[in-house]
Amino acid sequence: MNYKADPELLKNRTVLVTGAGDGIGKIAAQSFAKHGANVILLGKTRTKLESVFDTISSETNTNPIIVQIDLANAREEQFKQLTVAIEREFGRLDGLLHNASILGSKVPIESYDTTRWKNVLDVNLNAAFILTRELLPVMRKSRDASIIFTSSGVGRKGRAFWGAYAVSKFAIEGLAEVLAQELENTSNIRVNSLNPGGTRTKMRAQAYPAEDPGTLPMALQHMALYLYLIGPDSKGITGEKFDAKTWEGF
Ligand code: NAP
Repeated sequence: MNYKADPELLKNRTVLVTGAGDGIGKIAAQSFAKHGANVILLGKTRTKLESVFDTISSETNTNPIIVQIDLANAREEQFKQLTVAIEREFGRLDGLLHNASILGSKVPIESYDTTRWKNVLDVNLNAAFILTRELLPVMRKSRDASIIFTSSGVGRKGRAFWGAYAVSKFAIEGLAEVLAQELENTSNIRVNSLNPGGTRTKMRAQAYPAEDPGTLPMALQHMALYLYLIGPDSKGITGEKFDAKTWEGF
């Protein structure tokens, strides 16, 4: 991979990361801040967000902000208030990484619990839709803004027993495609999907309990791609599907 982000790539930019308290989202938030971004850390567990906040505050001169929201039960009103707060604090939003997600059950469709199914769709898809819709006006204020939807291999090719998770990721790909087309000639906002592929996190361990985590890349190894897509070097790239495993930079 030959892309190397400029250390000041995201200076004076504001980026929101969902699921910023753990896993890939935590590493992405820290990486964006290290490259100058003021990062809005959205997540479910306050203590985890506080820990990321402390790391960013001690390692950078940026202004991280914690937004504790449970995306399973989020109300539209919370997202509306968030948009107002971002506009007041930063004037605009330059980047949005939809990363938060839950695995749900790994069982056949035939025995998938209805409540569980809806819960997965609420977190992985519906919250991303509502959050995006509410944030678009404040993203339009950016010179060039980027939205990344996090996908998965099972969101591009179905696989038995991945149930609501796979379906939510297919839908995320659809949302990204529709939105990318809608915004292409009417805004400076680009929209892409990114499949990180098997990565050493809690979710991966939950999905593959027998796997040796040592065989998997760490989230940090994907950060060149995350930085490229969230920052201005990817200006003009929209409606594309990226794969961290095969991306070679340029
Ligand atoms: P992870 O370690 O489980 O982290 C998921 C993050 O999402 C956590 O910060 C979690 O917060 C947050 N989250 C979960 N439910 C939430 C809710 N209701 N409200 C707000 N935040 C919530 O997962 P990961 O492996 O880093 O995955 C990150 C993204 O990559 C996901 O979209 C996943 O589908 C995708 N992905 C991962 C892999 C992989 O191998 N790891 C492969 C393909 C795709 P709490 O910790 O507070 O619950």
